[in-house]
Amino acid sequence: MNELNLKNKVAVITGGAGIICSEMSKSLAAQGVKTVILDLNKEAAEKVAKEIEKEFKSQSIGLSASVLDKASLEAAKKEIHDKLGQIDILVNGAGGNSPAATTKVEKMDGTEKPEDTFFGLQIEGFDKVFDLNFKGTLLPSMVFGADMVNRKSGVIINISSMNSYRPLTKIPAYSAAKAAVNNFTQWLAVHFAKAGIRVNAIAPGFLLTNQNRFLLVDEKTGDLTARGKKIINGTPMERYCVPEELTGTLLYLASDLSKAVTGVIIPVDGGFSAYSGV
Ligand code: NAD
Repeated sequence: MNELNLKNKVAVITGGAGIICSEMSKSLAAQGVKTVILDLNKEAAEKVAKEIEKEFKSQSIGLSASVLDKASLEAAKKEIHDKLGQIDILVNGAGGNSPAATTKVEKMDGTEKPEDTFFGLQIEGFDKVFDLNFKGTLLPSMVFGADMVNRKSGVIINISSMNSYRPLTKIPAYSAAKAAVNNFTQWLAVHFAKAGIRVNAIAPGFLLTNQNRFLLVDEKTGDLTARGKKIINGTPMERYCVPEELTGTLLYLASDLSKAVTGVIIPVDGGFSAYSGV
C-alpha cells in the first residue's frame, strides 16, 4: 500500500532544475508522482527530468517557462495536459536573491560611502528580486490553480525563507518578497479553502547554495565568511541544512497526511527561528 497516496498525481515544480527543487522533485517522483520540472533553463530542466525517469521509473518532463510570464505558463499548462493530464500539486520553488539587491554594509552609521548602503541599492535589482519571489509565486498559482478549482482538489506549496519572519541584513528585497509570500500563502489558503485546495509554505533555514554562496563563503580561501559563521552561531543545531531535509515536510504537505492543514508556514531550519541568540 502506498501510505501517502501520491501515486500518479501530477506535480509542477517551478525552479525544478535548481538545487532545492530538483531534490524536492525527486522525492515526489520516489512516491510515484508524475513530475513537471518547469524552469527558465530548458536544458537543466530536461536533464533533471531524464535523471528522474531513470532513477525512479516515474514519468517526468522538463519544460522551459518563466514564472514571470503568464503566456509561457499557459503554454506549459497545455503541454502538461497533453502529456500528463490535470495538475494536482504545485510547488512554487523558483526564487532567489541577487547581488544587485544586496547592500555592501550590514548597518550604516553615516560614515560609509552612500553606494555601499541602502542608498546604493539598484531599483532594477530590487524589482527583479521582488518580482521573481513574489509575482513568481502568484502567477503560477493563478495559472495552475485553475486546474485544481475545476476538480475541487489540489495542493499548493510555496517556498519561503527565514527572511520572511525577521529580515536578514543586506537583502531587503528578498526579505520583503518572502514576507509577502507568507502573507499570500495565508490569503490564498483562505480564498481556496472551500474549493478543496490547500495552500501552505515551507520556510527553509540556511543551505549553502548558488544564490547565497557569494555571501557565506570566502571565494579565495573557501572558509565561511563572518556572516557564514554568524548563521552557524544562530542555528541551535550548529550546521547548515541540506536539501534532502526539506523533503519530509514537502511530502507531508503534499499528501493527505496534512488533510486539514492550510495556511501554515513550516520552518525547517535547525532551530534558527526559535533561537534568540542567548
Ligand atoms: P537555485 O538558484 O538553485 O534554483 C532556482 C531555479 O529557479 C534555477 O534553476 C533557475 O533557473 C530557476 N529560475 C530562475 N528564474 C526563473 C523564472 N523566472 N522562471 C522559472 N524558473 C526560474 O535556488 P535554490 O537555492 O535551490 O532555491 C530554491 C528556492 O528556495 C527559492 O525560492 C529560494 O528563495 C528558496 N530558499 C533557498 C534557501 C537557500 O539557502 N538556498 C533558503 C531558503 C529559501
